[in-house]
Amino acid sequence: MSIPFLDLAAQYRSIKQEIDPAIQSVIDSCAFASGPAVEKFEREFAAYCGVSHCIGVGNGTSAIELILRAYGIGAGDEVITVANSFFASAEAISLANATPILVDCCENDALMDTTKLEAAITKKTKAILPVHLYGQCADMDAINAVAIKHNLLVIEDACQAHGALYKAKKEGLPTGASAKAGSLADAAAFSFYPGKNLGAYGEAGAVTTNDEAIAKKIRMLRDHGMSEKYKHQIVGRNERMDGIQGAVLSVKLKHLDAWNTARRTHAKLYRELLEGNPKIGLFTEHEDRCQNYHLFVVRVQNRDTLQTKLKEKGIQSGIHYPIPIHLQEAYAGKWKKGDFPIAEKLAGEILSLPMYAEMTTEMVREVSETLKACV
Ligand SMILES: *Cc1c(COP(=O)(O)O)cnc(C)c1O
Repeated sequence: MSIPFLDLAAQYRSIKQEIDPAIQSVIDSCAFASGPAVEKFEREFAAYCGVSHCIGVGNGTSAIELILRAYGIGAGDEVITVANSFFASAEAISLANATPILVDCCENDALMDTTKLEAAITKKTKAILPVHLYGQCADMDAINAVAIKHNLLVIEDACQAHGALYKAKKEGLPTGASAKAGSLADAAAFSFYPGKNLGAYGEAGAVTTNDEAIAKKIRMLRDHGMSEKYKHQIVGRNERMDGIQGAVLSVKLKHLDAWNTARRTHAKLYRELLEGNPKIGLFTEHEDRCQNYHLFVVRVQNRDTLQTKLKEKGIQSGIHYPIPIHLQEAYAGKWKKGDFPIAEKLAGEILSLPMYAEMTTEMVREVSETLKACV
C-alpha cells in the first residue's frame, strides 16, 4: 500500500459539491480581493475562536508581522520565540524590524520551555511569541504569568493550531469549558497554507484578537495603511485576503471540528500501536489540552535512513523541522551550535508520519507496522 503524507485531493473530493459553487460565486461577483466572502469568513472564524475580531490577511507570516507592527513593535525591540519552530516564527519578527530572541523547547512535548523565559527577558523585550507546535497549545498559563510579571505582550503563533483547545479534558467536557487557540493571549496569528488543518486553495492567513484598536490598525496595515479609500494614514502593506480564499475557508470551517476529531482518532491509534516500543519515542499529550494533531511526530534514531526505508515501502513522511532556527544560514553569526541543545537533539530525531482526516484505520495500522518493522 502506498500512503501519502497528506492527501489534499481526497479532502477536495469529499467537499467538491460545496467548494465548487462557493468559488464560482466569488468569480460571478468579481470580488476577488477582500469583499463579502472574506468578511463572512472573518465573522465565522472570530466566533469559532471565541474572540471579537478576525482580520483576514495574505498568509500566516504576515499575520505575525502585522500584529507586531500594530503594537508598535519594531527596531530596537526584542520578541521571544522558540528555536524549534518553522522559520517564519522568527522571520516575521525580523520582518517587523525587531530582533528575534530564542529559547529552547522541552524534550517531552517540543513546546516552549517556559522555565527559560525569564533569563531571555531584557529591557528591550516587548513580547513573547509561543508556538502551538504540531497543534498542541503551549503552556499559556506559565507564559501569560511571566508576561504579566514583566509587562509583556503575548502573541500566539497559532499557525498550526486551528481548533486546538487549552485547559480542556480530551473528551466529554461541556462546550465553553475550555478556550480555543487564538483566544489565549493578546492576539494570535493563523496560517491557512493549503497543508494546514484549515487550508485555503492558495495562500491566506488571519489575526484573531479581542483588542479593538489593534484589530482596526491591522485592517489598515493589510490595506496600504488606508482607513478610507486613497487616504493613507500610515505606511502599510498589501496583505489582503483573496475573496476565493474567504469562500473556500468558510466552507471548510464547517468541517474543521470533524476533521480534527478524525485526526485525533488516528493519533490515538498510532499511540496505541507504537507506545512501548523502545525504539520509538512519542511526545507528551497534555491532559489539559486537546490537540488538533496538525502533525503526528515520533522520535527515532537513524532517522534519515529510516525515512528512506519507509519511502521504499511506499510510506511518505516529513521532518518538521530538520534545522532549528538558530542554525539557519539566514541567521548566520547570530547564534551557534549548542545554543539550544534540546531543539538540536530533536531536529535529528523527529519524523512526521502521515496524518490527515481522510486516512483509514488500515492506513494508520500499515504505517505503524511498517515503522515498527523498520526501526
Ligand atoms: C505555516 C506556519 C507559519 C507561516 O504561515 P504561512 O501562511 O506559510 O506564511 C508560521 N508559523 C508556523 C508555526 C507555521 O507552521
